[in-house]
Amino acid sequence: RRLVSGLTKTRKNIVSGLDSLFGGFSRIDEEFYEELEEILIMGDLGVKATYSILDDLRQKVKENHIKEPMDCKQLLIDSIKEQMQIGETAYEFENRTSVVLVIGVNGVGKTTTIGKLAGKLRSEGKKVVIAAADTFRAAAGEQLKEWADRANAEFIGGQEGSDPAAVVYDAVAAAKARKADVMLCDTAGRLHNKKNLMEELKKINRVIEREYPDAYRETLVVLDGTTGQNALAQAKQFMEAAQITGIVLTKMDGTAKGGIAVAIQAELGIPVKYIGVGESIEDLQKFNSDDFVNALFT
Ligand code: GDP
Repeated sequence: RRLVSGLTKTRKNIVSGLDSLFGGFSRIDEEFYEELEEILIMGDLGVKATYSILDDLRQKVKENHIKEPMDCKQLLIDSIKEQMQIGETAYEFENRTSVVLVIGVNGVGKTTTIGKLAGKLRSEGKKVVIAAADTFRAAAGEQLKEWADRANAEFIGGQEGSDPAAVVYDAVAAAKARKADVMLCDTAGRLHNKKNLMEELKKINRVIEREYPDAYRETLVVLDGTTGQNALAQAKQFMEAAQITGIVLTKMDGTAKGGIAVAIQAELGIPVKYIGVGESIEDLQKFNSDDFVNALFT
């Protein structure tokens, strides 16, 4: 399956660790737990999630009177899935008239993600408008336009340095005129200037609320999965600046530390909605915690 192959690097990292763990220990003792802790930390599941998983596993091992390491593998997988439980992940914007703001710092794969998402929605027959409201970077707008053309989505851009809220205003007008299903809005991700970012998002939100009061709203943060714990830190910073409804983790094909998805959901309680596992349109996949854990640990 595409998910499994897209996560090959992380799988190798974790599965080979687990194989030597389960093969190398004849009983479940402190050393066993220490090595397991190391594997989870190395896979970038994060300290907090790792400790919760280990605490929970110890409990389960005790309750079930497990002695053989191999017999606790399924319990481990269950523990990880439980850590990631944050209720059903909704993709409502796919089914309703929606406005999706996309935030992320340069280079994380924001443009590519919007392009892939547009392509995905188009293939489902949706009318899509893309608003290039990251007017800070002219090159980003051009690249985004290429993706929009490829996906056959309407593209609304503005001059470099122009008011992002004005671009959004134009895009909303276009979306209304064409009875678009989804408006994808590229916004700046200037984390070093959080106050400006907040102001900018507020202004954009005001335009959308005024012009599109009934639209389903979503604010996605795009994070580079290869940056591991830095991605987690970035997510926290964005959470201070905006009401984040979901996360997209990109470049998961390029990292052995894909466990970051576990850390994000377990620690932040924000759903990972999509993961990028390559550069083509099909390589943006809906995220499902159970499938993800199964792909990594079995
Ligand atoms: P932006 O600056 O955030 O808009 O980033 P871009 O969308 O331009 O992406 C930066 C680079 O990452 C490009 O070379 C993309 O092809 C690449 N990229 C984005 N998503 C993925 C992914 O899921 N997997 C891989 N392998 N590369 C990706």
